[in-house]
Amino acid sequence: MAQIDIATLDPAATVVVATGNAHKLTEIEAILSTAPAMEGVRFVALGELGDFDDPEEDGETFFDNALIKAQAALDETGLRMAVADDSGLCVDALGGDPGIHSARWAGEHGNDEANNDLLLAQMEAVPDAERTARFHSTVVLISRDEDGEEILAGNGDCEGTIARNRRGTNGFGYDPLFELVDIPGKRMAELEPEEKNAISHRRRALDDLVRKLA
Ligand code: IMP
Repeated sequence: MAQIDIATLDPAATVVVATGNAHKLTEIEAILSTAPAMEGVRFVALGELGDFDDPEEDGETFFDNALIKAQAALDETGLRMAVADDSGLCVDALGGDPGIHSARWAGEHGNDEANNDLLLAQMEAVPDAERTARFHSTVVLISRDEDGEEILAGNGDCEGTIARNRRGTNGFGYDPLFELVDIPGKRMAELEPEEKNAISHRRRALDDLVRKLA
């Protein structure tokens, strides 16, 4: 990522987005900048400001972990506004798992193949009618000043069912196993990026945050 000197940024008009992912920055900026409260605000990715260590995501909820990431971005940069999201797949037959453990469900962080293999094995005996699941996202926006922090959170879900095999090559994570309720017969991994962005849990969480910012 191209680097930006933090000293050149106006803390009153900059939101640091706690991600190294350029696609997430674009999506978050496009949606949040529609809020009147965000007029004139510049969005920069944490990865554009330096090479910072990821904080330990040891919270018990999506909200806790999004807050940990947003607060770490403020601590690391000295800026005053930050956005972070945390997301995952919640499967009813597994009591809401993998949930906040989605990224490392099979042990190794971000090993999508192993995570999908494990989920298929865990769901093997689960009948079709009980394979309901949802992707969840929580997006947190913090504003910090001398008096403390103001925290706003948006939540979004995308409903589906867990299929018995993989299909589709787009997206990431559990997308090949996730059959959409809104578009019957389609896997998340069969959607074009714009189609996914229009209905995703992240999109819905960001829309929820925009409503709360109004
Ligand atoms: P993160 O919070 O966006 O880093 O996502 C955590 C984990 O949840 C990812 O590593 C994926 O396993 C899963 N996940 C989150 N969002 C999606 C999605 O849109 N599609 C598929 N998997 C997702």
